[in-house]
Amino acid sequence: MSARCTCCAGCTPAWRGTASSTVTASGPNASARIGSGYAVETAGGTVYAGKVVLAAGLGNARLGPMVGLRVPTAPDRGHILVTERLAPLLSHPMARLRQTEEGTVMIGASSDRVGEDTSLDLATVARLAARARRILPAIGRARIVRSWSALRIMSPDGFPIYAESETSPGAYVVTCHSGVTLAAAHALDLAPALLSDGFNEAFAAFSPERFGAVAAA
Ligand SMILES: Cc1cc2nc3c(=O)[nH]c(=O)nc-3n(C[C@H](O)[C@H](O)[C@H](O)COP(=O)(O)OP(=O)(O)OC[C@H]3O[C@@H](n4cnc5c(N)ncnc54)[C@H](O)[C@@H]3O)c2cc1C
Repeated sequence: MSARCTCCAGCTPAWRGTASSTVTASGPNASARIGSGYAVETAGGTVYAGKVVLAAGLGNARLGPMVGLRVPTAPDRGHILVTERLAPLLSHPMARLRQTEEGTVMIGASSDRVGEDTSLDLATVARLAARARRILPAIGRARIVRSWSALRIMSPDGFPIYAESETSPGAYVVTCHSGVTLAAAHALDLAPALLSDGFNEAFAAFSPERFGAVAAA
């Protein structure tokens, strides 16, 4: 990996010197600390930055150790069903039933620990549909227009993991399974913290230290 930035003349001096930490994985997306910043290898080329935020969902488990962070997340498969557009039925979101402004009703959600398998389980789809009909009988007359399964990014206690690497300062991990619900907190609290001095005491409860060892093996 080159230690010299070629993106612009202005930042060249900051990147000179020897890498101060070792790249622990090869191939696309490896990252290494160089001088006062990071060089991130991507499919589109090398990106240089003073800070690196790992926000790659389940991919963080592989990327974290490259900067000394253990990210103990696991895939949790969930199924979602979506109905055709219906007249207003639900004025407020419920835990597993929500109607969008356009009228579709989102029916969720299952939770299975099946590794990275995202295949659709029809028995689960039927169970979710039957449950929705019990709660809201009108849904029984609606057509399901889409159903799919996808993977949540689950930490051992279900709460977010926010941390800065102790061995590679300026490298952070940000991960959670409720990115939609927490979008405002991420935009208004977390992003400004990352742009200034990093995580302060307000984020301490979200450190992966709560699970035991922090550093990558
Ligand atoms: C069934 C289901 C129901 C859900 N319901 C809700 C809900 O009701 N409310 C809520 O708030 N959230 C919900 N979520 C979760 C929400 O969708 C996630 O929190 C959100 O998608 C997480 O966003 P993310 O950007 O952290 O990760 P992701 O959406 O997984 O994005 C990570 C990205 O990083 C990329 N990537 C991975 N590895 C690498 C790499 N090495 N290099 C470069 N890029 C990489 C991936 O391709 C992906 O594009 C649900 C999720 C599921 C599956």
